[in-house]
Parts: sequence; C-alpha cells; structure tokens
Amino acid sequence: MKKYSGIKWLAVLVFIVYVVLCGNVFAAEKLTKIADNVYSYVDTKSSTPQNSYGANAGIILGRDGIVVVDTLISSKEAKRFIKDIKAISKKPIKYVINTHYHLDHTFGNSEFKKIGALIISHTNDGNNLKIHGETALKNAKDYGLNKKDMKGTKIAYPVLTFNERMEIDLGDRKIELIYLRPSHTDGSIMVYLPDKKVLFAGDILFTGYHPFMGEGDIEGWLKTLDYIMTMDAEKIIPGHGPVSSKKDIEEMKDYLIAFDKKAKELAAKSDNAEHIASEIKNSLPQRPEGAGLILWNIQMKYLKK
Ligand SMILES: [Zn+2]
Repeated sequence: MKKYSGIKWLAVLVFIVYVVLCGNVFAAEKLTKIADNVYSYVDTKSSTPQNSYGANAGIILGRDGIVVVDTLISSKEAKRFIKDIKAISKKPIKYVINTHYHLDHTFGNSEFKKIGALIISHTNDGNNLKIHGETALKNAKDYGLNKKDMKGTKIAYPVLTFNERMEIDLGDRKIELIYLRPSHTDGSIMVYLPDKKVLFAGDILFTGYHPFMGEGDIEGWLKTLDYIMTMDAEKIIPGHGPVSSKKDIEEMKDYLIAFDKKAKELAAKSDNAEHIASEIKNSLPQRPEGAGLILWNIQMKYLKK
C-alpha cells in the first residue's frame, strides 16, 4: 500500500512537471525565432477580429532590453503577447515601435506603456492615431469586436516620432526605423536589422492576405516595395501572413498593380461597389485570407466622392 502510494505521488509529480513544461512551450509557441535574439509573433491560423485579424508582431532582444514591433488589437491580445515575451526573456521592454497606426497594430499599446515602454512611430501615423484612434475604439463593433473583446483597451499614443529615419541602440544591436513615402498609410514604417538581414515590413507587405488599401498611396507603395527589393533582407515579416521573402514582395507589387488597374477601369463604368468587388475578386490572384477587404478598398479608395 505504501509503495503504491509512493508511485502514485511520483506520477502526480511527473504530471505536474509535464504540465508546467508544456505550459511554457505553449506560451512561447507563437514567438518564432527568426534569428538570434529576433522573434516574430506570427499567427497564420486565425484572421478573426478577436485575433487581431491575424496581425503580426515581433520582438528584438538586446543587451539593454527588448524592442517590441506592434502591439495587436486590444488589451487582452497585448497581455497574451506580453506573457509570451516574458517566457522568452525577463529583460525590460524598453521600446514599442508602431509600424503604423491601424488598430490591429496599436490598440495593445497601453499595456506596454503600463510596464514602462516608450512608444515610437512616424509623425504622420502618430497624428493619425490621435485623429482616428478614439473613434475607432468607440465604434469597435464596426470592426467585428464586442465590448468583451475590447475590455480594458485604451489608446496610448506614441511619445517619440520621426520623419525619415531613426536608430535604436540596444547596447549590442542597432535597429533602423525607415520611412520612405506614403504607402499603406502616410506614415507606414519598416524596422530593419541589417546584421540579421531581417525586415519587419508592417502592412507594406501582406502575404496570403488580400491587403487593406483604403488609405493606400499606390505609387508610393510600389516605390517602397521597389526599395525593399534593393535591401539586404532575407527574412521579411509581413503585417499579415507567414514569414516571407523577396518573392512575396514581387507578388505584392503585381497584386497592387493589377488591383489598381482593374478597380479604376470598373469604377469608371459603375458605382456599384459589390459588383466591382466581385469582378476584381475573380480577376485577382486568389489569396485565402482577407477577401472582405476588397469591398472596403473599393468603397474607400475607388468610389469615394
Ligand atoms: Zn494596416
């Protein structure tokens, strides 16, 4: 009986250790190592609003702390992200970079501010968040988000903004923030790690997703994609979709050119957004996610009065 009891407790102990270990593995599951001290937080499994429309984020570790790239869509999502970061490193999260102001990349900001991070963005998108942020949060249900999803979510604005380039020095690592011209928004930036050949492109790149183009500047966007083709970048983390490469940059260019041409042609003949959207959907390369954005793109960009 005594022996049996000992085995039972050993089994319980093994089970507890297993659960704890698995817990850590699962907690870190979505932080994928891209290079030494560089992780992407990429989720290709779900593009629901509750899951930040599948928006990507990332972290860069340095001697003096951690830099976070984008903060997801809500307080709840940011807390999940912070928990997963803590499973990788206990260093302080010193900076948050917003690649642009859209809700799925910035509405987690306040959770990072609470733990002392300094938020950085391009000047234009810092202003855009000030102009549109509170309204978007108030109308979250228009974006498919309910009160529970957004519980505790507050807008936290960038406190440090720049116009062309900025560099962050983490002691043993330099991170370049690059702005070229209006593209996905008029303040969309990229985060570049030259020594690792890694680029966080934000929503300048969508891979496997139909992109949101409602506020896009197509000419500037194409030039920005051309610039990326000249960069020494092997791993490119898109705003939505799996870790990508220059092949995906080329495909994104082709997509934008085809969409813009077709949308202009159709919008000259019709102001029926649904009709234009379905025609475009049939003529464009098929992408598994984000098809609902085609209609928004038409309404916001090609039929606006
Ligand atoms: Zn966006």
